[in-house]
Amino acid sequence: MSYRTIEIHRMPRTATEWHTFTASRKEAARLWSDLVERHHRLRRLHLKWPSKSRWARWCKGRYPGLSAQSTQQIIGEFCEAVNSTRQLRKNGHKEARYPWKRLRYRDVVYTNQDARLRDGKLILPHGASGTLRISMPVALPGRLMEVRISMAAVRLICEIPDAPRPQKIVIGVDLGVNTLIAATDGEKAILVSGRGAKATVQYRNKRLASCSHAQSAKTKGSRQWKRLQKRKARMLAKTHCRMRDLTHKATRKVVEAFPDATCFVGKPFNDAAHTIGRRQAQQVSSACNRQIIGQLDYKTAGAIEVDEHYTSQTCPVCGERNKGRRIYRCRRCGQTAPRDVIGSVNILAVGQHHSLIPGRSVPNAVICVHPVKYPGLSPGSSGGHPASSLGLSQEAPPRSLLSD
Ligand SMILES: [Zn+2]
Repeated sequence: MSYRTIEIHRMPRTATEWHTFTASRKEAARLWSDLVERHHRLRRLHLKWPSKSRWARWCKGRYPGLSAQSTQQIIGEFCEAVNSTRQLRKNGHKEARYPWKRLRYRDVVYTNQDARLRDGKLILPHGASGTLRISMPVALPGRLMEVRISMAAVRLICEIPDAPRPQKIVIGVDLGVNTLIAATDGEKAILVSGRGAKATVQYRNKRLASCSHAQSAKTKGSRQWKRLQKRKARMLAKTHCRMRDLTHKATRKVVEAFPDATCFVGKPFNDAAHTIGRRQAQQVSSACNRQIIGQLDYKTAGAIEVDEHYTSQTCPVCGERNKGRRIYRCRRCGQTAPRDVIGSVNILAVGQHHSLIPGRSVPNAVICVHPVKYPGLSPGSSGGHPASSLGLSQEAPPRSLLSD
């Protein structure tokens, strides 16, 4: 079973809706804050934290502005937070902190017993605060499991049964910054440009820094501070959407080139950030590798993570280790190819044979594409399929690969 979250951006429309919305979110915050306070008190007295069912009994009738199910759901989340913090502290993470913040508003959570779908409308009861009715713009892909209401978004968590997908081919996938995704099945390779994603991350970081700098000169909570806060949130939301869009388009390119493939993906690791420069470290850590792996996992026959150490340095033909820049050149046998293609070939070998054995070949057909929905015309072609119109031979790597 897998779960998918559907997000509907929505604000209350009428005065009654606003009242219900705010009252329930405040009531949820009151419950959370009461639990925070009680947890603090019990901990100070070295008393045992009561079980979830005990809290559910305690809550009965105390929070009329929430439905009973939502109350239990919030208690469950609080107990989970307490348990995981306790576990972390036991394992030596002394910096882990128990829930401590008293909230003004909190997300309201509903189970599928509470939230009902009727005639294309989602009905959410809130006890004494009233009932919210939300018309659904999309059909759900599976059984509704949980609903959460945040400030401007309704999140619906659906359960999707796993449909068995026959595996046709096996591919190796290397994730990077300048080349977002490099994928190969051993015969042809596809490189998806990461320039757009890199620019978006850079823009986000720059704007964030300037906003935070401007904010540091204002009084926290003042009108000007709030205005900057709003600007920051808007910019972050926008770049978040843009990154999600880019990763979807990039993974789609891979899926179009290799339908129903099992992907071996290099496991993303952040150790690289320790040994490289400041600027590169930011790019590497901001790369959206986790997101891409998740998308590949459900768009293809499955994504399997493998160890990617030395995969972009080892020559697949003779096994020699070379360090190169964007273009890889082997010192022993003279093999030349874009570095990301070498990386993906080696990841494929690690996935299939669990080792980097020499004597393999490097794919001759290297296709470079951009994460766009529609194929653009490349010089000297008359349109057609993106793969054929943008096909480039190994002898002539694109200029973008040679530039740095
Ligand atoms: Zn070699």
